Order: sequence, then structure tokens, then C-alpha cells
Amino acid sequence: MDDFFLYNTRTRKIEALAQREPGKIRMYTCGPTVYHFAHIGNLRSYVMEDVLEKALSYAGYEVTRAMNITDVGHLVSDADTGEDKMLLGAKREHKSVMEIASFYTDAFFADCEKLNVKRPKIVERATSCIGDYVALIERLFERGYAYAAGGNVYFDTSKLNEYHVLTRHKSGELFSAVRDNVEEDANKRNKADFALWFTKSKFDGQELRWESPWGLGYPGWHIECSAISMKHLGEYLDLHCGGVDNIFPHHTNEIAQSEAALGHAWCAHWFHVHHLTQKSGKMSKSSGEFLTLSLLEERGYPPPAYRYFCLQSHYRKPLEFSFEALDNANAAYRKLLKRVSELRDEGDYGEAAAAAFRKGFSAALCNDLNTAKALSVVYDVIKSDASGKTKLAVLREFDGVFSLGLGEVGAEATAPDEAFARLVEAKIAERNAARARKDFKWADAIRDELAAFGVSIKDGHEGTAWSFGEGGMKV
Ligand code: AMP
Ligand code: ZN
Repeated sequence: MDDFFLYNTRTRKIEALAQREPGKIRMYTCGPTVYHFAHIGNLRSYVMEDVLEKALSYAGYEVTRAMNITDVGHLVSDADTGEDKMLLGAKREHKSVMEIASFYTDAFFADCEKLNVKRPKIVERATSCIGDYVALIERLFERGYAYAAGGNVYFDTSKLNEYHVLTRHKSGELFSAVRDNVEEDANKRNKADFALWFTKSKFDGQELRWESPWGLGYPGWHIECSAISMKHLGEYLDLHCGGVDNIFPHHTNEIAQSEAALGHAWCAHWFHVHHLTQKSGKMSKSSGEFLTLSLLEERGYPPPAYRYFCLQSHYRKPLEFSFEALDNANAAYRKLLKRVSELRDEGDYGEAAAAAFRKGFSAALCNDLNTAKALSVVYDVIKSDASGKTKLAVLREFDGVFSLGLGEVGAEATAPDEAFARLVEAKIAERNAARARKDFKWADAIRDELAAFGVSIKDGHEGTAWSFGEGGMKV
């Protein structure tokens, strides 16, 4: 088993991933808030976490992964004010919160499946663990970390030796800049305190409420991840994941309440994926207009092309999305599939060559999940003079991590899927429009772009015909 080096937000260093039990990784992922479709930024985080889980398995670790589905308690402002996002979704669509949760949970997993993101072994809805939150909050009361005020229950951050372990901020900083529309909650003893249980908030419309020692109410957002993680993965967690926006306040608060309740350190390693951005600004579900995977599909991009787009860049760098950048990734991905489809399972299996490729691939992944470098090893394999048998065997193995359909693409590469056909036809229409207005430079540029996808075109009396690859489909 190789040591797996990964940046740890808590220590701010790239460190070998430690395990409580040698060879076993207990991994927790913050799941989606299911009040709307996931945007492609959210999906970047889930793609990279999926690759991380698969890379750990490839390196020989036994990974047990749990994820929550947030279907209650995540308020519009992370500072415990505003409406529950689930209620917002229900109002928007004139449905019940349960209907909204069920619809968008299914939609999330459908997106994951299209992106070849594996469903974590344990998936738990926040609303199914109320008893666990109550027990955890009671424990916090016993240990002197919780207080009731104004009908709600809060965590007292002043009782901690150190609160900002992930951000290294000083007490009192960070609060006004957390999110837009931050309102102060006057019940809090200290600015940094956070809600564990609500029986009263400024709005009264909460549909789902449960009995508790503090009255009829519902849990805060942070408590669900601590409780669900402890329920399924025990008192010690090896690895916790999320997007960078989760660092504060969500993960900071998870650490505070978990360590306070347990009386010892809780999670050793914190993995955070940087954001997918757009030139026009932040990608946000609450803004109403955002890019979804279905929208990419409608525009002709096969979902694995988006996965390829994510793998090309490092998880610790912001990634700017544009359709031009996605076009390039899609073209490169198509070309890669084509080249793999041209390999023949022939010749002798070269153990030494395979071992050298494996070494390069593993080294890249074990060095802070360098997926771009690991991807370059895929190209090294294809370009090498190893036998077809060796190449295919190694690529299939690598695809256990990348999940891009490498090594099983013979049929796919010569029979483009519908989405790809739509993309090509849209480009041809654009080229014909350019020709009609005598913009031949533009028309030629589109022909070249199509050629980069492996598509050749022929103009005839009945319009423009196209073909993909050798012996590909003719239209
Ligand atoms: P949410 O559904 O809002 O709870 O977020 C689900 C996951 O997506 C969390 O891990 C977030 O940190 C992550 N996330 C949110 N916005 C982005 C983004 N623009 N790029 C990457 N990950 C994001
Ligand atoms: Zn969480």
C-alpha cells in the first residue's frame, strides 16, 4: 500500500493520510441541500471526491464512505437566519418539502450516475436521524457547551480553547463577510455561536418539526453531519470532504461540536475542493439561474466530457467554466476515446511496461490527487510502443479511478451518441450560416474545430453530410 499524500486544510500541509485502523479510511462527504437541482459547481466537488475515493481504493485502502442528504435545517444564511432552503423550494414549486426533497435527491443521484460518480456506501437523509441529533445536543448540554435562548438551542463557542481551527481567524472576525444578507441573531451569547436546535426562528412556516426536550422544532444544519458521521463511522474520522465554502462556518462548527461532545480530536484530515466559477460571477442555486448537467446535455455535451473537464485541473485551484473551455475538453475527450477504440487486444502482455505506467499513475494520484498528471500518463500509455494488450489492460485499470469509459469504447467511438450528434449538427448549422453570409474564415474555423472532434464533413446538393472516425456513422 502506498502512502497517500493529500493537502490537509486543518494543518495547511500536504501530509500522508493517517488511518485510525491501518489500511482503512473512514470518509465523510457533505451531501447536497436538495431544494433544487445541483449546479455543475456542486458536481465538480462530487466528481473530485469520487476520484479521491477511487484513487484511495486503487492505492490499496479499504474506504467506507458516508454522505448526508440535507433535507432540513440549512437556512438561507449560514449564520442561522432566514428561511429553511427546503421551504423556499417547496414554495417555489407549490409542493410539500418532502416532495421537493424526494424529487431533487433523485435528480442528484441521476446526475451522479451520468457522471459515473459512485453512490457512497452509506447515504443518510438528515430527517431520518432526529434522535441522533437530540442525543448529541443533550451530550453538549451535559458537557457545558450548549445553552437555550429565545426558544432555540445554541453552541457556546466561548467554551472552546480554539474555535477557528480551519481558518485561523481571530475570534469575532469573518462574520460579516460570510454570506450576503447576514442578519444578527440576538439570542446568541457570542457572535460565533451557532444554532443546534430551533423551536423559533423569524419565520413560522417550517413544515417539518419534531418533539425534543427543548420543544417542537428542527435541527440546525451543522449538527446533522457530526451526528450522521459518528453514527456510521464512529468516534474517529479519517477524512472529511466538501467544497471550500463549507470550511466556514459549516466544517468549523462540525469540528467544534464533535470535539466538544467527544472530548477528543475527531477528524484527522480535511479535503476541500475549490470552486467552479463563471466569468459572470458566483455560481449559486439560490440565484435561480445556474448551469445544470441537463443543460450541458441539451447543448450536446455528454456528461463524461464534463468529468474529463474536471479531471484536467487540480482540485485545489479555482476552475473557470466557459463553453469554449468545455468544447476543448469535449474534443480532447472524444479524441481520447477514439484513440483507445483503435487499440487492439493483441501482442504479449508486457509486465515491466505495465508496472512502469502504474507507478507513474499512482505517483501522480498519491501526490495530492494530481489528476491532470495522472491523465497525462494515460496519453503516455497510448503513445508508447507497448503492445495493444498491455495498453488496454493498463487503461482499463486506470479507468477504475477515472471512470471515463476507457477500454470499453470500441462501439461508442464509431457510433456517436445522440448528444454528440446534436452538438455536431449545431456546429454544422453555424457553419452553413457563416457560409451564407460569406464569412468563410469563420466557416473554416468551424470545419477545423469539428476535425479536432474527429468529425469530417462533406458539402453536397442535399446539405452537409458528416462522419465520425473511420467507418463511423454517416449522416
Ligand atoms: P449544497 O447543495 O449547497 O449544500 O452544496 C453541495 C456541495 O457543493 C458542497 O460540498 C459545497 O461546498 C459544494 N459547492 C458549492 N458551490 C460550489 C462551486 N461553485 N464549485 C464547487 N463546489 C461547490
Ligand atoms: Zn456537512
